[in-house]
Amino acid sequence: MFQGLSEKLQETFKRLKGKGKLKEADVNEAMREVRVALLEADVNFKVVKDFVAKVKERSIGQEVLESLSPAQHVIKVVHEEMIDLMGGASGKILIASKPPTVIMLVGLQGAGKTTHAAKLANMLKKQGKHPLLVACDIYRPAAIKQLQVLGAQLNVPVFSMGEENPRDIAKASITYANQNGQDVVIIDTAGRLHINEELMGELRDIKGSVKPHEILLVVDAMTGQDAVNVAESFHGDLGLDGVILTKLDGDTRGGAALSIKAVTGCTIKFIGLGEKMDALEAFHPDRMASRILGMGDVLTLIEKAQESFDEKKAKEMEQKLRKQEFTLDDFLDQMQQMKKMGPLSSILEMIPGVGKQLKDVNIDEKDTAHIEAIIRSMTTEERRKPAIIKDSRKKRIAKGSGTSVQDVGRLLKQFEQMQKMMKQFSGGGMGMLGGGKKG
Ligand code: GDP
Repeated sequence: MFQGLSEKLQETFKRLKGKGKLKEADVNEAMREVRVALLEADVNFKVVKDFVAKVKERSIGQEVLESLSPAQHVIKVVHEEMIDLMGGASGKILIASKPPTVIMLVGLQGAGKTTHAAKLANMLKKQGKHPLLVACDIYRPAAIKQLQVLGAQLNVPVFSMGEENPRDIAKASITYANQNGQDVVIIDTAGRLHINEELMGELRDIKGSVKPHEILLVVDAMTGQDAVNVAESFHGDLGLDGVILTKLDGDTRGGAALSIKAVTGCTIKFIGLGEKMDALEAFHPDRMASRILGMGDVLTLIEKAQESFDEKKAKEMEQKLRKQEFTLDDFLDQMQQMKKMGPLSSILEMIPGVGKQLKDVNIDEKDTAHIEAIIRSMTTEERRKPAIIKDSRKKRIAKGSGTSVQDVGRLLKQFEQMQKMMKQFSGGGMGMLGGGKKG
């Protein structure tokens, strides 16, 4: 995400850091580069102008905190102004005091409405809610089917009435929700290729009939300034409560993320980071700014770990580590848990200082698949005591897992090293990643 912008800004700051004492000319030069980087990232022209002016004003001739070098001070100011730019409340759905809470998703065709209706349902379900998905995209026959498939996958009911008037479908869905104990209604509406009066009329109609608590605009981040224009139009016409910015996983520039709030006044509530159902995150301007500036995003990483790791399992694992009973089966288990956090590359990107190095590193998710296959080809006894695996067995395991004897040897060696390391840790009572609270 945002690699292009991130790299340019970091280059600029690196040069700045090399300077020691900063003169006004140094700051001006750095701000020229920041300006170009932001414009290249497709950030709105006026937003860039204001941003650079503010940073300059706060960087030149100001008292610098004693603990910071002048360059660090500039970076701190850029960081703060960037947070301000994207600022506002972070991703939460306001739950109505009287159910059902009604959320209406709007946006152009292909922005990701149907996908994000389902992702939202998934998120709310995890929070203990009982969502109902409502198919109001009646023009694209595949849209109803798509929602039904996603609903079935998530075990979330989908309300549809075929090609009836969307306003009537929406209205009927509220009655249905009331009768069936569904406390959040998520309405997936139809889009068009471009904004037109027919679309807006239809959306106003639905809005009038169900009085949604939240109208969220779904926009594709990769469309840059177009996304900002779309947000401005929808906000003017319907009055938006927030934005879901999708496809950030493919957005190397970041123009939409950095401009939407400043131009339209609408806050980004959620971001979509992939096609999978769990690729939805609450938007936190501070964390996003840190990611862009290459400071990593440790908080999101921790949250992801907490979400994905089963507390009880983590405790068991810690016990095993303490007693030095950690086996290859446990190793496999840990790998499965890691996988739940998302692709390895996106996890590593959040670690400070790692993101930048990553661009040259090709992380092969296949490697983890190999490791899994190897462990699964071992007997239970072997997984418990890998030391008993002799050369002939290594050959069999390699054959069984479609890998080479070297691969098997390497894994066994790595595991042995890991066990050694754990012995050192276990004295101090340290768990693995997300090891939960210490008991
Ligand atoms: P709709 O027309 O607005 O309902 O859009 P869809 O939900 O059908 O999404 C259009 C396409 O974008 C589909 O192929 C989705 O899988 C894909 N998509 C949606 N959200 C994301 C995202 O956050 N990241 C990526 N990479 N693809 C997405």
